[in-house]
Amino acid sequence: MKDFYDYLIVGAGLYGAVFAYQMTQAGKRCLVIDKRQHIGGNVYCREQSGITVHQYGAHIFHTDDRKIWEFVNQFAAFNQYVHAPIANYHGEVYNLPFNMNTFSKLWGISSPEEAWHKIQEQAQSLGIVSPRNLEEQALSMVGPDVYEKLIKGYTEKQWGRSCKDLPSFIIQRLPLRFMYDNRYFNDRYQGIPVGGYTGIIRQLLEGSEVLLGVNYFDFRREHPKIASCTLFTGPIDAYYDYCFGSLAYRSLRFETCELPVKNFQGSAVVNYTAPEISYTRIIEHKHFEFGQQPTTILTYEYPEVWYAGAEPYYPVNDEENTRLYRRYAELASHEPNVIFGGRLGEYRYYDMDDVIAAALKSAENQRSVF
Ligand code: UDP
Repeated sequence: MKDFYDYLIVGAGLYGAVFAYQMTQAGKRCLVIDKRQHIGGNVYCREQSGITVHQYGAHIFHTDDRKIWEFVNQFAAFNQYVHAPIANYHGEVYNLPFNMNTFSKLWGISSPEEAWHKIQEQAQSLGIVSPRNLEEQALSMVGPDVYEKLIKGYTEKQWGRSCKDLPSFIIQRLPLRFMYDNRYFNDRYQGIPVGGYTGIIRQLLEGSEVLLGVNYFDFRREHPKIASCTLFTGPIDAYYDYCFGSLAYRSLRFETCELPVKNFQGSAVVNYTAPEISYTRIIEHKHFEFGQQPTTILTYEYPEVWYAGAEPYYPVNDEENTRLYRRYAELASHEPNVIFGGRLGEYRYYDMDDVIAAALKSAENQRSVF
C-alpha cells in the first residue's frame, strides 16, 4: 500500500470497479477496499465442477444502450443466452414474463384479442382507476388470475410485506406482451459473460491496488488521510451511522448444492410463485452457459428479513424509505470529497447496465474536476 492515493474506492463491486477503471485510465491512483474476501460484490462468480456459479443469485446482463454493451464487451465474450424463466405454481408451469403463452395456458385461449378482453373484463370489474400500490397496478395490468397465481405469492415472499404496501414500479419491471414471446427483457442486447463476471471485474481493477477483508470504518480511523477523494458504495445510512434511523432493505439467503444429474429443471431459473414454498426461485447455473457437464449445481434463493449486519440486497423504495433516503442524500450532497454510488450508496434498485452507466457518469464528472 502506498501512503497516498487520488481515490479510495469502498466496494469492489461493479460500480467501484468501473469507476476505478475509468480513473486509472485517466492516470489516477486508486485504492479499492472491500469487506468481503473477494472482488466483484454481488456479481462475483466462482467455478465448481466446470460450472460457473453466480454466488449471489442470477445476474443476466441486458441493456438497450449500445455504449454500455460495447463497454462490457471489451472485457469478456458474451454468449447468446436469452433469459426466459418459467413459473411453477403448485406444479402448474407458466411462461414468464406475462405473455400469450402464459394466457393461453391459463385460459385456453389463442388470440391476443381474447387475452386482452379477458384481462379487461377481469380488471374492469375491480374498478381500479389509478393504481395506488403494487397490487392495484398488477390487477389492472393482468387481472386477478395472473395476479393470484404468478404475482401475489412471489412478491409477498420476496418483499416480506403485502402487495398493498409496495410501490407499483416494482411490477412494472416486467414486460406484459400480447405476443408469443418469452423473453424476460425487452432490451436489444443481452447475454452472460462466458466464464462469469469475476473476470470482467478483475480486468477493471487491474490498474488499482485492492485490499480485501477490510472494513471501511476501521480503515478510515487508521488511515484518515489516505486519499483526496472517496467513492463509497456501501449503504449510505451506515456511512452516517444511521443518524436518522436505518433504511429498509431486503436480504436473501442462498442454499447451493451439486447433484449427480445432467439437467434438473430444464431452465436456468424457475420461479416458485406459491406462498407455501419459502424459496422464490431455483437457479440451475449451467444453463446460463448451455453446459453439458455430468453434474449440476442448483441455488435455492430464500428472501429474508434484513437486520443490521445482514447483507442488504434490495432497497425497499417505498414512500417512507424514499423520504428517509432523501435526508441522507441531503447530508451526502454537502460531504466534501465523498461520492456515493451504486445500489446501496444511492439506495436504488439498479440493474447492472444502469450501475455501469452511473459509474461512468460519475467518473466523467470527476474528469471535469481535475
Ligand atoms: N415478480 C412476480 N412473479 C414472478 C417474477 C417477478 O410477481 O414470477 C415480480 C416481483 O414483485 C418481483 C418483481 O416482479 O419483485 C421484479 O422481478 P425481477 O425478476 O425483476 O426481480 P429481481 O430479479 O431483480 O429479483
